[in-house]
Amino acid sequence: MKKPILVGVLALQGDFACHLSQLESLQVAGCEVRRADDLNDLDALIIPGGESTTMSELIDRFDMRLKLTEFVRHRAVWGTCAGSILLARKVDDPRVRPLGAVDMVIRRNAYGRQVHSFYDEIEARLNGTVSRLKASFIRAPIIEELGGKVTILAEYQGSPVLIEQGRCLVSTFHSELHDNTLLTRYFLECIVLDGRKGCPG
Ligand code: GLN
Repeated sequence: MKKPILVGVLALQGDFACHLSQLESLQVAGCEVRRADDLNDLDALIIPGGESTTMSELIDRFDMRLKLTEFVRHRAVWGTCAGSILLARKVDDPRVRPLGAVDMVIRRNAYGRQVHSFYDEIEARLNGTVSRLKASFIRAPIIEELGGKVTILAEYQGSPVLIEQGRCLVSTFHSELHDNTLLTRYFLECIVLDGRKGCPG
């Protein structure tokens, strides 16, 4: 039997509620992370979509930067959209101080403004199987450079949109807004529990 896990969702701003309801639907314990001490007992952290400039400012205002930086270096983390921007090594916007967990350079709002947001289906290679994912790109960033330790799991229009490095998963799109938990299950089974067997794909 798998040990129960506790997954935190950074809840300073943005769409943390959608991730919490996906966790709930999978009967995995989830909790909101609003201060540094909330990170103490977690097995994993999800950094949701939202506004990376605001989240970056709030991380400093609530004195979370040190503990958060430590956490994302050593434990399982998934950043979606704004969350992916926060995990980068370098961001094009100086108002965002990224946590530097993933060796990538990322550009904010790279597809255009809110009206240029769009939905599509993408193909991802998850645990050796090609799966279709529903993906909303909402003022999404584009990953412009990747380091050698990064694995690309999906590309869209020639750019990587789903990648992993060690225990970090990065999606530049939102899958959690859709009625499909595949990516959440992949994160839990293959990255958090590190159980390569039984990973969804
Ligand atoms: N444009 C936002 C940012 O730069 C990200 C949008 C999102 O998370 N959907 O932070």
